[in-house]
Amino acid sequence: MIRRVLLLLAAVSLPLAAAPAKSPPVMSGTVSAADPRAAEAGIEILRQGGSATDAAIAMMLALNVVEPQSSGIGGGGFLVNHDAKSRAVTSFDGREAAPAAADGEWFFRDGKAMDHADAIPGGRSVGVPGNLRMMAMAHARHGKLPWAALFQPAIRLARDGFAITPRLGNSIDRYGKAIVSDWGRAFFFNADGSPKAAGTILKNPEQAALFAGIAAKGPDYFYHGATAEKLVATVNGARINPSRMTMADVAAYRAKERDPVCGTYRVYRICGMGPPSSGGITVLLILKQLERFDMAALGKDNPVAWHLLAESERLAYADRDTYLGDADHVSVPVKGLLDPAYIASRSALISPDTTMASIAPGVPAGAPPRVRVQPGPEHGTSHMSAVDAQGNVVAVTSTIEDVFGSGLTIDGTVLNNELTDFDIAPVRDGYLAANRVQGGKRPRSSMSPTIVYGPDGKVRIALGAAGGSTIIAQIAKALVGVLDWKMSAQDAIGMGLIYTPGPGGVVERGTQLEPMLPALAALGEQLRAGPLGLKANAVEQVNGQWTGAADPRSEGVAITITGKDSVTHKVARGANAAHE
Ligand code: GLU
Repeated sequence: MIRRVLLLLAAVSLPLAAAPAKSPPVMSGTVSAADPRAAEAGIEILRQGGSATDAAIAMMLALNVVEPQSSGIGGGGFLVNHDAKSRAVTSFDGREAAPAAADGEWFFRDGKAMDHADAIPGGRSVGVPGNLRMMAMAHARHGKLPWAALFQPAIRLARDGFAITPRLGNSIDRYGKAIVSDWGRAFFFNADGSPKAAGTILKNPEQAALFAGIAAKGPDYFYHGATAEKLVATVNGARINPSRMTMADVAAYRAKERDPVCGTYRVYRICGMGPPSSGGITVLLILKQLERFDMAALGKDNPVAWHLLAESERLAYADRDTYLGDADHVSVPVKGLLDPAYIASRSALISPDTTMASIAPGVPAGAPPRVRVQPGPEHGTSHMSAVDAQGNVVAVTSTIEDVFGSGLTIDGTVLNNELTDFDIAPVRDGYLAANRVQGGKRPRSSMSPTIVYGPDGKVRIALGAAGGSTIIAQIAKALVGVLDWKMSAQDAIGMGLIYTPGPGGVVERGTQLEPMLPALAALGEQLRAGPLGLKANAVEQVNGQWTGAADPRSEGVAITITGKDSVTHKVARGANAAHE
């Protein structure tokens, strides 16, 4: 159904409008996003005098249009902000929430937990979307341009059309069967049922109208009234896995400002996202457990360095799996996990010569008693970074979870399947899981928008990634590359990944790590080479100059505009569209 809504940039009611920029815009800044059209949207906003937050919001919205398989307002995200004036770092939680009716058996069928893959399609996996509320909260705090201005690049893309990228074309081809809505089938497939190919122009007037409504009326346009009714009817009326979401669930959704999780690694200060994301804490654990090793001296070509990284990942992921969940619903021992004595005790388990025989979570101070239970009855995502002329920096990661989320759509917009980021079964290894489904709770995430400060107190790099639980390993690897091995953000992101969330693990096929496999095996590592769906984006400051990095595995770009002449550089256009 196409609603006709006037695309009125001017129709901004007061509460939606941040104070207009007083001084003429200074045109400089850097953005990085997973699609060039999203990066251009960010630059357009910076050129109008928008803040880094404004640019990040415009990029999120543009990505919703051109990368519909990965992220958008039908999903959730986390945003970390550095304020140049106050030097404060704040973080915003726009993670989706479970309906109040959800409980530990939300994903049960015939008395048994469903397979993860069976739980994804349809209504039950859809959390109340959080991105719009988060954008509005961040905009109210750090925005400069009127709210409606941020929607204009995305509205143009949706209304006038955009070409399917190779990556999206590949996603439709490989994962398109996940799209269960009639609108989605017609949008992404030809009349003969074949997937629309890269280069095809898609127009999405439904989404343009939805965005125009939200631009004019604010997020309430989505969370109340006809759009919310459509959301509830769609998830509850789904042919597969119908939900029990209510209008009250949607109306009750709030973004939350959270304490960022900060810690030091060598001379750097690293700030990331706390619960319900596991990202900030797990990245810090990996790095801090490595701190007693001279990673710089070992260097990036030494298999021992990668073995140490692998072991540190294993320990950190074990703690993540055991302790991390939504701290509003379960007790999460954040302080205990980041306590230096605890980290030292965990790091002592790592040997440069051999691989641990077994991996177990530790017992940090404040760990809640683990409740033993008698036996009985996780890619779609996108990260953006932006810095503006004043030096405000934003790192934001946004997702609908799997490729094409739940496969359901409203108003040309894909709905998330974020609730399958909960543990599908409420019991894990005989214990009640911290990340079990509970009404109103937010599922644990791996998303890791991260801002790193140098010893001079200046922001050194802001980065993040997509790729489910590999995100944590991607960020740790990139930071070891930049901070220890003195690589550019671009090279550090491009470097192959070792991913070891448990025993064994994977090295990224076709990278510098593959030839190291025999040397790693001699250290007891049982690894295999395999493909990993990775996608990172960063902005970094080197000697006072900002530049950006975009994953060479993706179609992403970074763009810098400089003050006087507004020169636009594009870097790092990747070609590999093989993996979402
Ligand atoms: N839903 C995942 C998370 O929040 C991200 C999915 C992805 O990156 O593919 O951790």
